[in-house]
Amino acid sequence: MLTRRCVIAAAALATFAALVPAGAQEPPKSRLKVIATFSILADLVKNVGGDRIETATLVGPNGNAHVYAPSPADAKKVADAKIVFVNGLGFEGWLDRLVKASGTKAAIVVASKGIKPRERGSDHDHDHGQNHGQADPHAWQSVANAKTYVANIRDALIAADPAGHATYEANAAAYLGKLDALEREVRDVIGKVPAERRRVITSHNAFGYFADAYGVAFTAPQGVSMESEASAKDVAAIIAQIRKQKISAVFLENVTDPRLVRQIAGETGAKIGGTLYSDALTDDKGDATTYIELIRHNLKQLAGALIG
Ligand SMILES: [Zn+2]
Repeated sequence: MLTRRCVIAAAALATFAALVPAGAQEPPKSRLKVIATFSILADLVKNVGGDRIETATLVGPNGNAHVYAPSPADAKKVADAKIVFVNGLGFEGWLDRLVKASGTKAAIVVASKGIKPRERGSDHDHDHGQNHGQADPHAWQSVANAKTYVANIRDALIAADPAGHATYEANAAAYLGKLDALEREVRDVIGKVPAERRRVITSHNAFGYFADAYGVAFTAPQGVSMESEASAKDVAAIIAQIRKQKISAVFLENVTDPRLVRQIAGETGAKIGGTLYSDALTDDKGDATTYIELIRHNLKQLAGALIG
């Protein structure tokens, strides 16, 4: 038999249900715990997951994921997670050991799945062949690739939390629309730089996918992985190239030691074009706290130095 209080509660619930628009979903009581291995990936994950997920990042703002050493606190985070989002393509060489040590049962989701890998050493990255056959991990530097990451993230979140299906679909669609606009912007701006001026020096070779997608040539003394220091021979080759090709600007990065690039600028008279954000977002005080801001910042720096 229904008590009077139950009847009132049921009536209140029915009224509440009528107020919630069709298709909208209540955020769950406990949010899905996920990990992203580095800050750029974490931003993509948050855009799709919205308030249904709680995202922890292993390699934070301005951090260098190539040479990262996980802490015991990281193992604890990984142990508690339902999904660990990784870039893949050999970027997180330290991940397998961390996953084993944590004993986690989390799904390991490779966000770059389905992207055509660019071979490291296929351009001018001065790896002298020892890395041939391995992939260049920096796939997110092409916005088209970031869209693939977003689709993979959406599918993994839906698989882990089917109740959030509509939310993840809607969030991903809205964000993919923003990435479409961003990619048009990149093509428009780079399209205005005369082809012969589209040559750039950076400290490590993180921009190969950007180069392939948008037609800018990048050269870097430190190769793709930063596992080894640039040799004197590599630096001399770059200095000769800057003089021969009359490259007007060299760029620093937020994740690498600026001294080498400053030395190259000093010896050649090339100006420092600014700082490009390669493998990490900036902290809250910086101007690339999101992936979209990162691409826009890099675009502005490149256009300013190459056109100006
Ligand atoms: Zn890198």
